[in-house]
Amino acid sequence: MSNRQKPTSRPSFRSQAVHNTLALPCVAESAWQLDDESCLPWLQSHWLANQPMKIVGAGSNLILPPILTGPTILMALKGITVIEETTHDILVNVAAGESWHDWVQQSLKAGWFGLENLALIPGTVGASPVQNIGAYGVEVGQLIEHVNVWDFSCGQTKALTTDDCQFAYRDSLFKKPEGQALLILSVSFRLRKKAAWQPTLDYPDLKPLSQAALLDGFVVSPQAVFDQVVAVRRLKLPDPASIPNAGSFFKNPLVSAEHCDRLRQRYPGLVAYPQTDGRAKLAAGWMIEQCGWKGRQLGDVGVHERQALVLVNLGNAQARDLLALAEVIGADVLERFGVALEIEPICWA
Ligand SMILES: Cc1cc2nc3c(=O)[nH]c(=O)nc-3n(C[C@H](O)[C@H](O)[C@H](O)COP(=O)(O)OP(=O)(O)OC[C@H]3O[C@@H](n4cnc5c(N)ncnc54)[C@H](O)[C@@H]3O)c2cc1C
Repeated sequence: MSNRQKPTSRPSFRSQAVHNTLALPCVAESAWQLDDESCLPWLQSHWLANQPMKIVGAGSNLILPPILTGPTILMALKGITVIEETTHDILVNVAAGESWHDWVQQSLKAGWFGLENLALIPGTVGASPVQNIGAYGVEVGQLIEHVNVWDFSCGQTKALTTDDCQFAYRDSLFKKPEGQALLILSVSFRLRKKAAWQPTLDYPDLKPLSQAALLDGFVVSPQAVFDQVVAVRRLKLPDPASIPNAGSFFKNPLVSAEHCDRLRQRYPGLVAYPQTDGRAKLAAGWMIEQCGWKGRQLGDVGVHERQALVLVNLGNAQARDLLALAEVIGADVLERFGVALEIEPICWA
């Protein structure tokens, strides 16, 4: 990869508004659009001379301030390359600036399966390992073989394994202090061909398919899983194009099995999912709803009427309005359930 770098190239530089799905007004003081890896050495010298850079994909998991100070990279690298192929599976490298949902659709069309449960998640391929995006029983870390990065701490490209990436629930190396010098350039996915593919249908919303799969002669196809996921998401989640939001605003908190049992005795309707490590994941949306926040508004921000986990910008909100709402919701949940909520999007405000 490093052979392709031409040290003389520099990316386009400008001060510009940063698009984000929460529609928060934000201008980056100095933004570089990265559409060619040959610009990396130039960025490296800028990195060494200045403060750490902020990296923006599609802005669908960001809480942004009105002014984004310091250098910002707008990820725009494109390209999809097959690395190796067997009769059972395929290894494909996808550039960080590709749209996530477009890639899911393309993989399905090409007959490469495994990503169908992750359909319709907004954002770029490069951001997918950052919070180890997950939905409907699948996390992207399960399908990744390598994450290819530019390491600003040494000015080199590196191929990180899944162990290096430290994938966990909505977490990875890239969210930790030691991962802050890493710019994701591309992600290599190991996907299955039809003969080796197995559907993941454990999630309650996919029950119609898992029940149908029990019928004689009914075969669940990857396209059917994709279609069901897309239909459920369209029903449950607001489209940021019409109601600005960042998806789940809070993580589902993990608690010990004992803590979960104590809560269930008090709240028989508690929604909790047992984890393989013995802990339980509590549905934050259910707790927020129990505290009476579903559908409520506070000035220009509110809690979505169909999904209590989603905070929405109802007009001219700024980051501080959203954070103020998140704080009162968090305080209510803590008081009632004794559980601390953690904000899911990355907050630079
Ligand atoms: C309606 C809606 C539904 C959603 N549903 C889900 C869901 O089901 N599951 C889920 O997990 N998430 C979900 N999200 C959150 C979001 O879509 C994902 O986190 C997505 O991966 C963010 O991609 P992005 O390109 O917009 O990243 P951005 O928001 O631009 O950035 C997010 C973080 O990634 C970092 N980053 C971005 N690109 C790179 C790169 N190339 N190298 C290094 N760091 C980088 C940024 O610095 C930042 O820290 C949802 C969001 C919305 C709006």
